[in-house]
Amino acid sequence: MIPFLDLKSLNAQYRNELIEACTKVIDSGWYVQGNECNEFEKEFAQYCGTKYAVGVANGLDALILILRAYKELGFINNGDEVIVPSNTYIASILAISQNDLVPVLVEPDLNTYLIDSNKIEEKITSKTKAIMPVHLYGQTCDMDKINEIAKKYNLKVIEDSAQAHGAYYKDKRAGNLGDASGFSFYPGKNLGALGDGGAVTTNDEELSDIIRALGNYGSHKKYENLYKGVNSRLDEIQSAMLNVKLRYLDNEIEKRREIANYYLNNIKNDKLILPNVRKDDNHVWHLFVIRTDKRDELQKYLLDNNIQTLIHYPIAPHKQDAYKEWCNDKYLVSEQIHKEVLSLPISGVQNLEQTEKLVEVINNYE
Ligand SMILES: *Cc1c(COP(=O)(O)O)cnc(C)c1O
Repeated sequence: MIPFLDLKSLNAQYRNELIEACTKVIDSGWYVQGNECNEFEKEFAQYCGTKYAVGVANGLDALILILRAYKELGFINNGDEVIVPSNTYIASILAISQNDLVPVLVEPDLNTYLIDSNKIEEKITSKTKAIMPVHLYGQTCDMDKINEIAKKYNLKVIEDSAQAHGAYYKDKRAGNLGDASGFSFYPGKNLGALGDGGAVTTNDEELSDIIRALGNYGSHKKYENLYKGVNSRLDEIQSAMLNVKLRYLDNEIEKRREIANYYLNNIKNDKLILPNVRKDDNHVWHLFVIRTDKRDELQKYLLDNNIQTLIHYPIAPHKQDAYKEWCNDKYLVSEQIHKEVLSLPISGVQNLEQTEKLVEVINNYE
């Protein structure tokens, strides 16, 4: 079987270093808000090219806390609107709802699966306060256009970079392409902890201070609470795991690019549509997503040939029961994407033999 993602082998590459890092934390007697998290925040900010990074409990919290901080600053108020792609993982949209804000869905571009920057402006109203581009599958969005629109209408740009650690847009990396960015370190992400984790990156010192306080019961100083905060912190064990794995992130991305390029150059089957890449370094291949109108048949064929695939995602956000208010709305591009996409296995531990086998099997599909 070629697994979709073999997390066990992936982490086994760093087994000794991970165990050593874990032991260090256990023996330190210090488990939250310590040196490991401080070091990770410094290193991750540097990696992204931003001035600040704040560790939080997970990617959803990162996005929730960015919006919450803009509310504390008085820039956004309950009932205001945030523009978000109709084709994304539900967490992007939940972060908006959780803040009593209104998600306004914009259709993706069928070629890139990313928010269609030409369809944003028509959705802007007097209540619009932010745009949340999602660098879906690992490719950065059309940021020049998005930032230009944001500037024109005085909107904040909040990147959802949960799938795009290390991806470039021109000479800057995801996390440094807007006003603030949310990252996830869920185990399956390109930079994954061994549990949940997340971070916010930004160049805005005031915003980063507020987010840090919000994630710590609303407190900048012990027992003094400025905000009605929450508990959302990146603990020392997960920070230590991430300190090890961050050193290998570029290597992981490089291996993914090799597999992706092999797929792009060698998959030849006119029933399938391969992903479009703007520029090699714009995509970190969190997912390699192909499209076909007979998706379910293809998935079954691949499984019968011992190849595991997944669907990202099977149900469009506006079709989810959690968002019944949208059940009669039509987002046709997004619906087509959700019906047709299939994610092929890709990761730093997939070997050439497996990649070649997959290409052979998929080229024989009729
Ligand atoms: C994974 C993911 C999130 C949420 O991150 P968690 O750490 O799982 O909370 C948000 N947005 C996107 C696009 C994601 O892929």
